[in-house]
Amino acid sequence: MLLEVEGLCVNYGHIEAIRDVTFSVEEGTVVTLIGANGAGKTTTMKTLSGLRKVRAGRVMFDGKDITHLPPYERVKLGLSQSPEGRGIFPGMTVRENLDMGAYVRSDKAEMAKDFDRVMALFPRLEERISQFAGTMSGGEQQMLAIGRALMARPRVVLLDEPSMGLAPKLIQQIFSIITEINEQGTTVLLVEQNAAQALKRAHTAHVLETGEIVRSGTGAELAGDDSVKAAYLGGD
Ligand code: ATP
Repeated sequence: MLLEVEGLCVNYGHIEAIRDVTFSVEEGTVVTLIGANGAGKTTTMKTLSGLRKVRAGRVMFDGKDITHLPPYERVKLGLSQSPEGRGIFPGMTVRENLDMGAYVRSDKAEMAKDFDRVMALFPRLEERISQFAGTMSGGEQQMLAIGRALMARPRVVLLDEPSMGLAPKLIQQIFSIITEINEQGTTVLLVEQNAAQALKRAHTAHVLETGEIVRSGTGAELAGDDSVKAAYLGGD
């Protein structure tokens, strides 16, 4: 397993945001966490990228305990996040934002290859390479956030709500790109409220409810599960 999350508990003061969350991510797969608002999806992602402290439990990456490593050390090991709400640097250009994604690297030739790869995945970013990121549309900023995460050449990329706030056509495009990123060899951990799309793309899926994993299975299994359908797929 590339990523193993064992008995993770995270609090905000006295509020238990996640409780005893355990799951693993096999190398080469797409794993998704679905759940309602406030279920603890973002907290889980922030904890994996090192932005939140754990109260209990541990996180293993490629057999190494990373529970207490700072975020940049995790990026160096190969774990990078595209955060919810995009978190791009609005006053920097597209190019500068992408360069920031590679800040822990010094392998210039390989970085150039990854830059080309990001341009191929997102031609829209290439057209706008000198534009200030803050002036781009929501969808373009989302592409930039994903592109910036990929510039770290992660072994696993954490995508928090990549489809949030996007028009239906763009949502389709973002999900196709996620599949493409995975097919190119990057493991993907995806948090989504768009459960139907996420389950369609995921090898493995987990449902988070009020901080706990209540159901797990393949994407197809959960997409066919009656309670998942009723709660997350609009009853279809
Ligand atoms: P959404 O889909 O709405 O983003 P989520 O599943 O990502 O939801 P989290 O953001 O992880 O949920 O929140 C989990 C719980 O922790 C919620 O009850 C939320 O109110 C609480 N929480 C999150 N951040 C903080 C914070 N900084 N301080 C206090 N409570 C917080």
